[in-house]
Amino acid sequence: MRPTIARVALPVPLDKQFDYQIPSHLFPIIGGRVSVPFGRQTLVGIVTAMVNESEFGLDKLKPIKQVLDNQPVWSEQLYSLLLWCSQFYQYPLGDTLFNAMPSALRKGKAADFATLVEWQLTPQGRDQLMQGFGRAVKQAKVMQMLESGAVPHQRFVDEEIASTTLKTLAEKGWIESVEKKPIIRDWRRDVEADVNKPKLNAEQVVAIASVNSGEGFACYLLEGVTGSGKTEVYLNLIKPVLEQGKQALVLVPEIGLTPQTINRFRKRFNVPVEVIHSGLNDTERLNAWLSARDNASGIVIGTRSALLTPFANLGIIIVDEEHDSSYKQQDSLRYHARDVAVMRANKERIPIILGSATPALETLHNALTGKYHHLTLSARAGSATPTTNKVLDVKGLYLESGLSAPLIAEMRRHLKSGNQVMLFLNRRGFSPALMCHECGWIAECKRCDAYYTYHQNSNEIRCHHCGSQQPIIHQCQGCGSTHLVTVGVGTEQLEKQLAELFPEYKTIRIDRDSTRRKGSLESALSAIRNGEYQILIGTQMLAKGHHFPDVTLVALLDVDGSLYSSDFRASERLAQLFIQVAGRAGRASKPGEVVLQTHHPEHSLLQALLTKSYRHFAETALQERKLAQLPPYSFLTLFKAEANQSQPVEEFLRQVRHTLEAHPLFDDCCQVLGPTPAPLAKRAGKYRWQLLLQTQSRPTMQKLLASAKPAIQILPNAKKVRWSLDIEPQDLS
Ligand code: ADP
Ligand code: ZN
Ligand code: ZN
Repeated sequence: MRPTIARVALPVPLDKQFDYQIPSHLFPIIGGRVSVPFGRQTLVGIVTAMVNESEFGLDKLKPIKQVLDNQPVWSEQLYSLLLWCSQFYQYPLGDTLFNAMPSALRKGKAADFATLVEWQLTPQGRDQLMQGFGRAVKQAKVMQMLESGAVPHQRFVDEEIASTTLKTLAEKGWIESVEKKPIIRDWRRDVEADVNKPKLNAEQVVAIASVNSGEGFACYLLEGVTGSGKTEVYLNLIKPVLEQGKQALVLVPEIGLTPQTINRFRKRFNVPVEVIHSGLNDTERLNAWLSARDNASGIVIGTRSALLTPFANLGIIIVDEEHDSSYKQQDSLRYHARDVAVMRANKERIPIILGSATPALETLHNALTGKYHHLTLSARAGSATPTTNKVLDVKGLYLESGLSAPLIAEMRRHLKSGNQVMLFLNRRGFSPALMCHECGWIAECKRCDAYYTYHQNSNEIRCHHCGSQQPIIHQCQGCGSTHLVTVGVGTEQLEKQLAELFPEYKTIRIDRDSTRRKGSLESALSAIRNGEYQILIGTQMLAKGHHFPDVTLVALLDVDGSLYSSDFRASERLAQLFIQVAGRAGRASKPGEVVLQTHHPEHSLLQALLTKSYRHFAETALQERKLAQLPPYSFLTLFKAEANQSQPVEEFLRQVRHTLEAHPLFDDCCQVLGPTPAPLAKRAGKYRWQLLLQTQSRPTMQKLLASAKPAIQILPNAKKVRWSLDIEPQDLS
């Protein structure tokens, strides 16, 4: 007999599914979309099961309105991965599934390609690129946007480029429009374009052979400094995959998705390369999603969200810069794309390669204990030489906007010889605080437990936690004095100071404020590569994934905060940043130098980094983690809760604690810490508390949470607070 009831997952924050009648003329399928009545609305949902009985009785159920798919949205493996995600991250199934669909599908649109008009350069236009385009700024911008390949029409609309601009360029014969239709083809033959490939070195050959000799699922850590040829290894691993008619997924950190990276893959292979990132509009995202699913694209490169792309025939996954924190989603489904990628490779029975110069301690631990295969590239490919590193003791030295005299002298030396200098300061704005010189009062955000950052350029004080802002105040709100001073140094101030210290050189600042506009980061990076600027200053953003061959001096201006942080991952992040920035310097044939300004030159972490290697640091850090029973030697779950008042939040987490401790699965190896106020105890008017659960194994953690969650959901205070679970949190704030 045909089932009469469909169980449907809906995008509602309720941890359950809903039963609907199946009318006799409709034929829903498991894993396919339907539209159903829900209260007064009609919602799109996913059928997760078909049954004959419901606890409510058939006559109480409303009928399905419409069947939207005649094939499942996901393959069996991907669907099972999503089920796993929902369970592992303790996130409602409906929300998890909807998280993994392009928004066009969430809205109930047909899973069909939308016609997409794209613009591309003509061969004549390509020649023109070399010659420049005179003074037409918008036209030049269009040409630059097309440099690395065809661009959908919509993108120009987003960039506020008039269609007359496009028309003018088309009339000149430089660009042309094409209607993009996916071509589903077999690309097995002539996969590789005719390009100059470097001759692989011995370590690269070993790495490639190890992966190729495996069968089915296996996870590899490819550890190699920047420039050691990891990307070259990826390219060589992808080739045979494509030759078997299979597809490749390449994940990169948010900041790593530059035209340079994409070009490298596009130039090497004669297969369609699809790029997926958070900036795509609905149509682009749907098309990218469909072309991977229907085998129209050979390679998908993308940031975190690309992980859940469906593939017709996935053959390999690569996670570049696997330690990067942008792989962890910090809201809704708080998944770690690297960890879920490993699970995906497992379910698809394919190899996965995690690449990094500075592997996360969790990953390194897995490699050292033999759970992952460990491949290393120890030398920089090409002609680059290692950097010289030194610690600059700034105790007692006068700092001019964060710069010590010896550093300024060093900068001058490098600049004089025609090289570029890069300075890191992880604080944007002019100053992290505005203080009264008379009484010490500090301008504080009313909605957060945090100080306002002083932004001179935009003439305002801004809270970096809730985004609130107001015009700069000129009078102390404590004593009425007008003698207000700024405290501390941010990138804006540094930029200003450098203009005074080095008027003969041009400075560029790269941080979230200066790169807010779409495309502005890319044009800044290419201006740097073209040598338009000699001094580069920036936050962490500048550290990742960019190659600047003329940078010979890199300085980290203020590392002391990370040495004595309450976050146990702070030292790991500092070590990674240090190695990453060292990798920026001294590429090509110019030797590089890295300088760390600190008040604690004797600190063991700095000494280990300077005189030994990342691996040495990592092994010491792992020993410390083991003693403290911190990850990867234990597994953490962070309960977060917030509300307009503090008391119910604390009370709720106390109840959670009791629930956990009274649970039969809570054993001697489990520990609960808290409730404690969150490091940022108040944000946007909400009081925030947290509770940390530590367990010895993942299965214990999963079983305990799954079984305790229903009891937690009905706790007296559960409705009074907003609470969430962060499984294996990366950020404890
Ligand atoms: P990574 O991804 O580790 O930063 P890349 O693969 O980008 O390293 O390699 C850095 C540079 O060295 C690139 O320009 C690349 O073409 C070149 N390269 C890679 N492997 C070799 C090799 N075996 N011999 C010479 N050059 C190489
Ligand atoms: Zn605030
Ligand atoms: Zn005052």
